[in-house]
Amino acid sequence: MPTYHIEKSKSGRAACKAKGCGEKIAKGEYRVGTTNMKDDHEMTAWKCLKCFLPGPKSFKQSDSDPVKWCADNLTDLRDDATVEMVLEAMEATLAKPKPAPKSPEKMLKIRAAAEANIIDDDGPKKKLKVDPSSSVSATELDAFEIYSGMKTDAIKDYLRWNDMMLKGNKDQILNKVIDAHIRGRLGRCPDCEGKVSIDEDDDEVIKCKGSWNEEAGCRVTCFNQWPKEKYPYRLPFVKVSPSDDEIEKIVEANKAAGKTGGIDGKIAVKAELVDMDDVNITTPDGLKVAVPKILQACRVMNVELPADDHAAKVACAQIVMSQKTEGVTAIDAILKAIATKFGVKKTAEQEADVASRAASSCTIAENGPFVQIFKTLSELYMKDGNFQASNTYKKAAKAINECSYLIDDEHLKHMHKPKHEYKLEGLGKAAVDYMKEFKKTGEVGKIKEKKEKLGML
Ligand SMILES: [Zn+2]
Ligand SMILES: [Zn+2]
Repeated sequence: MPTYHIEKSKSGRAACKAKGCGEKIAKGEYRVGTTNMKDDHEMTAWKCLKCFLPGPKSFKQSDSDPVKWCADNLTDLRDDATVEMVLEAMEATLAKPKPAPKSPEKMLKIRAAAEANIIDDDGPKKKLKVDPSSSVSATELDAFEIYSGMKTDAIKDYLRWNDMMLKGNKDQILNKVIDAHIRGRLGRCPDCEGKVSIDEDDDEVIKCKGSWNEEAGCRVTCFNQWPKEKYPYRLPFVKVSPSDDEIEKIVEANKAAGKTGGIDGKIAVKAELVDMDDVNITTPDGLKVAVPKILQACRVMNVELPADDHAAKVACAQIVMSQKTEGVTAIDAILKAIATKFGVKKTAEQEADVASRAASSCTIAENGPFVQIFKTLSELYMKDGNFQASNTYKKAAKAINECSYLIDDEHLKHMHKPKHEYKLEGLGKAAVDYMKEFKKTGEVGKIKEKKEKLGML
């Protein structure tokens, strides 16, 4: 089995090895290497992206899903824009012609409603009318008016400014922009920091598209999804071209939106409970009083600092100092930095959201609680710095997520055994033991143990 590798050409010397091409691949252009074992040596042949993208045979001959193919084969592909470009080109060249990408249902309705208006409208421009029997709202029609006349690239700019996925045909892109214009831009996935997007097959669903994981050194697939109306991590839609610095902040805010479950809201709540008016970190005396106050505010905000007050104060003081060196002295900004670093305890409602996401993404919804166990373990091990274990549990979560049967006691006896008909790839004996324990007691001792170790209980 060959392996594939995509990178920007380091020199301009290599020529494309594809039949009939032979063009030099300019420095900085993408090139794809196909590596095969020959005798005992690895042989890599480079092709220019244009020649590679019709896809290797293994991809074209299978019904393989391009997203999965890329995740499995182009494991070093970390830049989202390139991933999107490669995916799009690969999808376009699938051996079996794909049905023309369909317009989202919502867009068809909006278009129909807009057309009905145009026919009616022969006088001076009137406010758009909405047929009360249609599910299209006046706000949606207004947003359609703003964006529908623009070129696709201009609409994509809005998505780019807001750190959103660009993929799709014009209607799919319009649909994303209209949704974000009205409801707010999409923050990133709380579990993997990947970009989320309206699903191309079901425009009532928002799905995570996975992300590059620095520690694991590969792209990880993710299976989080939400009903569009309930997606909780929205931020204001950026409508004016931002500077590079601002774009960086937008990306950070999008990541934080998922990770912290709305820190800004918590900071607002804290303001009513802890008086921070006289806190000043710019003087030595001010600093002394500031740290205990900041800790008090963090406790109110349910920031997951160590339970021990002394350890928590040390942690707060470190962030205060590092922020101060960067010239940040505003208390809310410091609170936000602490909350972003340590995370904020989820409210009961957010816990329920996590659980329902686990269930709704499962092939068998009832297996959701098991997925939840392994996602939790994966997070805890990640926090603890054990990335290998974290990845193992992520794989276990994925295995259960895709499991096609409702897991019962009989399955639990056999699902870790190699070659058994119930065997799930990615699930070891230890993992199955946790599931048995959970089934019996409703708890997993290891989770409690880890949380205690991390000072979270
Ligand atoms: Zn070529
Ligand atoms: Zn994700």
